[in-house]
Amino acid sequence: MTNEAIPPRIHVLAKPAGAACNLNCAYCYFLNKERLYPGSRFRMSDEVLKNYISQLIESHRTDKVAVAWQGGEPTLMGIDFYRRAIELQEKYRRPGMTFENTMQTNGTRLNAEWCEFFRENNFLIGISIDGPRELHDAHRVDKRGQPTFDRVMRGLRLLQKHGVEYNVLVTVNRINADHPREVYRFLRDEVETSWIQFIPAIERLKDGAVSLNQEGTTVSERTVEPEQWGNFLMAIFDEWVRHDVGKVFVQTFEAAVRNWLGLGSSGMCVFDPTCGHGLALEHNGDLYACDHFVEPKYLLGNIRQRHMTDLVGSEQQRQFGRDKLDTLPRTCCECEVRFACHGECPKNRFLTTADGEPGLNYLCAGYKSFFHHIDRPLKIMAQLLRRGSEAAQVMQVLDQLDAGPAAAFAKVGRNEPCPCGSGFKFKKCHGRDGINRYKTARVQPVRRSQTPARADALEQITSENP
Ligand code: SF4
Ligand code: SF4
Repeated sequence: MTNEAIPPRIHVLAKPAGAACNLNCAYCYFLNKERLYPGSRFRMSDEVLKNYISQLIESHRTDKVAVAWQGGEPTLMGIDFYRRAIELQEKYRRPGMTFENTMQTNGTRLNAEWCEFFRENNFLIGISIDGPRELHDAHRVDKRGQPTFDRVMRGLRLLQKHGVEYNVLVTVNRINADHPREVYRFLRDEVETSWIQFIPAIERLKDGAVSLNQEGTTVSERTVEPEQWGNFLMAIFDEWVRHDVGKVFVQTFEAAVRNWLGLGSSGMCVFDPTCGHGLALEHNGDLYACDHFVEPKYLLGNIRQRHMTDLVGSEQQRQFGRDKLDTLPRTCCECEVRFACHGECPKNRFLTTADGEPGLNYLCAGYKSFFHHIDRPLKIMAQLLRRGSEAAQVMQVLDQLDAGPAAAFAKVGRNEPCPCGSGFKFKKCHGRDGINRYKTARVQPVRRSQTPARADALEQITSENP
C-alpha cells in the first residue's frame, strides 16, 4: 500500500467502555449499539489498549498524535485505565512526539482526582450539556429517569476549579432548538465557556422504531426539524457576529469561515467534500469507518488481527470517504452554497430531491437558509483575514454599516476592498455609483458596545485540521 493512501494523521474515536453509559439520554444514538456485542462486559482489555496506542503511533507520520476517548461514557473505565494509556503513550512514543488526549464525557462522574489527572496530563475535556436546566433535563436523564443538570454543572465547575481545558457539546433537539439565544447566553454568560459545538439530534425510524443502523426515511419526535435547525444556527450566529467574534468559538461558524476563505478543509468532516478520516474503535478492537456508522456493514476489521494502518488505507475505507462526494445528488451539485455545505453528513441524506433523486440531506432546508443568511458577514470576515486583519473587526464593520453607509464607506480608499464584503474594489462597488445599494443588504441590526477584537479567531481558523 502506498503512503498516499494513508493520511499523515489518523483520527480515531476510541470507545473503551463501548456503548455502556451511566445515563440514559433519550436521543443517544450510541446506546442501542450495545446490541452489537451481546454478552460483552464492555471493557477494553490491556491487550487491545496496547495494540491501539502502539498502532496509532505507528500510523502517524506527524509528531502530534490525537488520542480521543469517547463512549458511551468513557469514565466508566476508571482512572487507572487512562493512567495506563498515558504510560503506553510514553513507552511507544517516537522522539519529539507529543500527545493530545481528549475525552467526551457527560461530566456526572467527575471528581477532584479525575480533574487533577486531566490537568496533569493536559487532557481536553468535552462536556455534553444541552442548555439551562429545563432544556438540558428534557432529554438528558439517568437510568432512573432522574434529571442530570446539577450533576453535569458540578462536574463542569470542578473542571474550571482545577484549571482543566474544556469545551461544551450541545445536542440540538426539537425542544432546545426553539430557544437558541437562551442556550447560547447560558453557555456564554453562566457556564462561561468559550468553545461550543452544536450537533443536530437526528433519529431515523424504521418500521416505527429507532433503527440500529442508518435506515429509514422518517424521524422521531425528538429529532430537530430542518427549518428549526437553520433558525437555531442563524439566531446564534446573529448574536455571535455582533458581540463575540474572537471571544467565543462556535465550531460550525469556524468551519464556515474556513470554507468562505477557501482553505481546502473546514475542520469538520460534515462540511468537507469527502470524509473517512475519523474512525471509531470499539472496546474489543473492532475498527469502523466512522463514529456514526458503527454497524456491521462498515466494520473494517479488528486491530488485533490487522494493523490499523492497513485498515485505514483499505479500499473499503477510501471508498467510504469518496462516497460522500460521489453520491451527492444533482440538486447539491448545482446548489449555490455547496462550497460550504457539501451535502453535510451522508448519514442524514435520506430525503428525495424535487427531481426524484435519492440522497438529499434531511437538514437541507435549514442549511440553505443558514448559509445564505451568513454570506455577507462571512464575506467581510474572509476579506479582513485575507488582508491580515483580525476577523473580530467584522463587529465594528457591521456596526458602522448599521450607523449608515456614509460612516462605513467614509475612509475607504478607491482601490481597497469594498467593506460590504462583495470582494470587489471599492471603486468598482459602492464607491462607483453611490452607496445606497447597500441598503438592500443590511444584516439584522443588533446594538451593543463592542470590545476590542482579539487575534484568536485567526489562529483558530488557520490551525491544523484534526
Ligand atoms: S459519515 Fe458523516 S460524520 Fe462520518 S466522517 Fe463522513 S461526514 Fe463525518
Ligand atoms: S444546502 Fe441542501 S442542496 Fe445545498 S449542498 Fe446543502 S444539502 Fe445540498
